[in-house]
Amino acid sequence: LSGAMASVALRVGDLAEEWDRTGLIPRDLLRELGAEGRLCAEVPQQYGGWGLDSTSSGAYTAHVGGLCSSLRSVMTSQGMAAWTIHRLGTAEQAAVHLPRLTGGDLAAVGFSEPGAGSDLSAMTTTVRRDGDTVVLDGHKKWVTAAHYADLLVIVGRYQDGAVAVVVPADAPGVRIERIADPLGCRAAGHADVHLDGVRLPADSVLGGHGLPPALLVTTALAYGRMSVAWGCVGILRACLAAAAAHAAGREQFGKPLAEHQLVAGHLADLYTAEQVATRACEHASRCWDEGSPDQVVATVLAKHVSATQAARGAATAVQVLASAGSRDGHTVARAYRDAKLMEIIEGSNELCRLMLAQHALSAPG
Ligand code: FAD
Repeated sequence: LSGAMASVALRVGDLAEEWDRTGLIPRDLLRELGAEGRLCAEVPQQYGGWGLDSTSSGAYTAHVGGLCSSLRSVMTSQGMAAWTIHRLGTAEQAAVHLPRLTGGDLAAVGFSEPGAGSDLSAMTTTVRRDGDTVVLDGHKKWVTAAHYADLLVIVGRYQDGAVAVVVPADAPGVRIERIADPLGCRAAGHADVHLDGVRLPADSVLGGHGLPPALLVTTALAYGRMSVAWGCVGILRACLAAAAAHAAGREQFGKPLAEHQLVAGHLADLYTAEQVATRACEHASRCWDEGSPDQVVATVLAKHVSATQAARGAATAVQVLASAGSRDGHTVARAYRDAKLMEIIEGSNELCRLMLAQHALSAPG
């Protein structure tokens, strides 16, 4: 794993800044990383993946998150697509699609719609059976990595439930429209996906049958939540390193910033944030690896703790660097924009709090 981390670090180098500015990661690089299985590290080895457990995958995700949140976002989408195919698809579907995702093809997952953000039960995208085909109509919004994707996992209504469908990005009737100037993760390839009478073979429906919408969405999102949580740990580590180096090196009032107690307090807060987020993620990953019944709530907790700590920690880091960190392209400025979005996706702060409150109310004693 350390070799893989070093290799990704080498390839990202100091390019994250340029990708953020131009809004693009070179597609060839993404394909290269994908073909080495580096974008969905938990896919089992039988499908060409690394077969990492959640704890090791988390360490790797945090590493990438510290280098570039856009790249980590693309990884989250690829991993979430693979997870959904593996969990919901048949053995045949896994055997067809997973080797593509470890072989260089890129993927994205679409749930959200103009009228269905937090409330995914309001989804109106339809999947209609027609003989041995299915037909998709709808509009997905803000789909991370859709700009790069070769295949899309689209969630829609089907009969009286919901299904996830594997849709080739170049299928007739698919239109992918890039979102201009996102606040953060600017090179993550966010796009709206329009589906207009997209006709596909019926075996594109994962598992071949409908599921209760809440079950389907929770299954797919669980992976994304863990990935985002660990990515936020990476953001915090990058911010802590930048703030500590700056505070140790720059002098004001005749001594290093770090020797002014209020600045030292910021560093302590950042360290605390990084440690708290790491522990929450480690606990959740352990639950995944042990198959613990606490997995669901531990995942929501890890995502919520990491995202809120990252957003606050990045703001603290900008404060410590002040003018030195107050321009686009600086690590802490990028982190500040990227981290804010982590409080919105994969279950916003508010939705996470509602789920945690529900758990608290139902927990015995
Ligand atoms: P709304 O649902 O309109 O919510 C607005 C505010 O109200 C939020 O603060 C929300 O928490 C709060 N709120 C809503 N309902 C409640 C409630 N019941 N109680 C308390 N507060 C509430 N979607 C995908 O399908 N695939 C992707 O890959 C993807 N990537 C994304 C990447 C980024 C960077 C962003 C910004 C979005 C992405 N999305 C993606 C969409 C994302 O899932 C939605 O933005 C998110 O679910 C929130 O929906 P919304 O933006 O419509 O906000």
